[in-house]
Amino acid sequence: LQLPADTQQQVFPRQVEGAAFSYVLPQKTQQPSLVSLNEPLALALGFTTKDLSNNEIAEVLTGNKIIDGMQPYAMNYGGHQFGQWAGQLGDGRAINLGQIQTDNSGLQTLQLKGAGKTPYSRHADGLAVLRSSIREYLCSEAMFHLGIPTTRALSLCLTGDKVTRDMFYDGNPQEELGAVVCRVSSSFMRFGSFQLPAMRGDKTLLKQMVDFSIKQNFPHLGEPCSKVYIKWYQEISERTCQLIVDWMRVGFVHGVMNTDNMSIIGETIDYGPYGWIDAFDLTWTPNTTDAQGKRYSFGRQPEIGQWNLFQLGNAIYTLIDDAEPLNKILNDYAVKYQRLWLEMMQAKLGLDKLIEESDAPLFNRLEKLMMSIDVDMTLFYRALSSLPQHAHLWQAHFLDCFYQDEPLVEHYFEPFSLWLSDYQQRLTLNSSTQQERQQAMNSVNPKFVLRNYLAQQAIEKAEQGDYSMIEELLQVLQRPYDEQKSYEQYAVKRPTWAKNKAGCSMLSCSS
Ligand code: AMP
Ligand code: MG
Ligand code: MG
Repeated sequence: LQLPADTQQQVFPRQVEGAAFSYVLPQKTQQPSLVSLNEPLALALGFTTKDLSNNEIAEVLTGNKIIDGMQPYAMNYGGHQFGQWAGQLGDGRAINLGQIQTDNSGLQTLQLKGAGKTPYSRHADGLAVLRSSIREYLCSEAMFHLGIPTTRALSLCLTGDKVTRDMFYDGNPQEELGAVVCRVSSSFMRFGSFQLPAMRGDKTLLKQMVDFSIKQNFPHLGEPCSKVYIKWYQEISERTCQLIVDWMRVGFVHGVMNTDNMSIIGETIDYGPYGWIDAFDLTWTPNTTDAQGKRYSFGRQPEIGQWNLFQLGNAIYTLIDDAEPLNKILNDYAVKYQRLWLEMMQAKLGLDKLIEESDAPLFNRLEKLMMSIDVDMTLFYRALSSLPQHAHLWQAHFLDCFYQDEPLVEHYFEPFSLWLSDYQQRLTLNSSTQQERQQAMNSVNPKFVLRNYLAQQAIEKAEQGDYSMIEELLQVLQRPYDEQKSYEQYAVKRPTWAKNKAGCSMLSCSS
């Protein structure tokens, strides 16, 4: 890194061959200011309380000021986008500042998103806007507190610069506020990091990268060799499988499961046009770009996870020269997913034990029912934990979970009642008490999720300079499984006005 930090360097978009990353300096910003700082995470990373109150923190976390020991770089990777090989993509607007050795979570990388152009920016500006940065900041923390693997978010800053974007609702260019999120992870490598050298036939680089990944993030697998490559692939497959089961449990739809957005350590990464399920619908996708094909809809996530793993397997095949073990792992993924899904449903429904032959049909019937009527997934499972003893109370008990008007619910409720009676019957086989069941269910069925309209409300306030809702949501989402009576307003179904409002339901990739 030869350039002094105050030099505005020229960055040319280019094909970078034979290298996994490029040194690059973040772009200078007009007037960096802190919107929100994740203090608990900062302290866990080793920041001192003095650091946190230092006026320069926004300068550092927007990349304006490079401090001693930082050697910023952008990573090179490729990817399949919507099923097509897209060639080199890379960190077009993400710049890693470096790694921190932490007390409890090993090496952690700090990465700025929206910090300016890199060799991988292609035709784009390398920047991010406040709207999408708030969405990433809030959602990664929500995911973390749900207990689901994810990159974390350390800070959200305004840059003081304006950024031009084509807005999805009218297609006209708009000036928006520039922002930078500082993300944190023990690895930002993606499936596409390995695909790119493989596609280019650069086996030397491919091997170097796989070895690096194993040494850095999978040291328990042993010294890299062909046997260990298989174990590595197997562990990635298992982590990916578990991750997607978790997404299905809480109603998260990633929206852009391209192979460049799949973390090699099985974390949720790249919060773009993601969404949370309101009315249960396996065919729903939040991504307007995907609205036709629905490749990345809620219900297809497990299958796409496997498709992406298949691409990763293809990439590392030359290091192993035997397709058999890789094929087996891919088949195991499907078996394992089915198993984990059953266990997940068992937990969601509060069953002590799984009786597969009879429980699987019960679970499948519930999904079908939920597909046939607009019922809020999050509210339904919470309400189910306190199912009243008497059937004549059921409709009233679930009324707030339905998006249909009351007369329609009346019409739809009969099949629901039938299912509920069977469920009630099934509960008699439990040995846990009603209270234990409720507690167990409420520890896997969140009460608070980042509903799309809530994120949008926080965005609209923040764009007016009011950050209070960001802080309040962060607070609430820290304890998603708890009752939190004073925050009931965040645990209700999506209001009618939000149904088709831009940002509340469908989103474009514009960010
Ligand atoms: P995504 O679909 O957001 O994962 O982005 C796909 C690719 O486009 C990645 O290589 C990103 O780094 C790049 N990209 C997205 N937005 C921008 C931007 N504003 N400037 C430069 N590169 C971008
Ligand atoms: Mg991405
Ligand atoms: Mg439905």
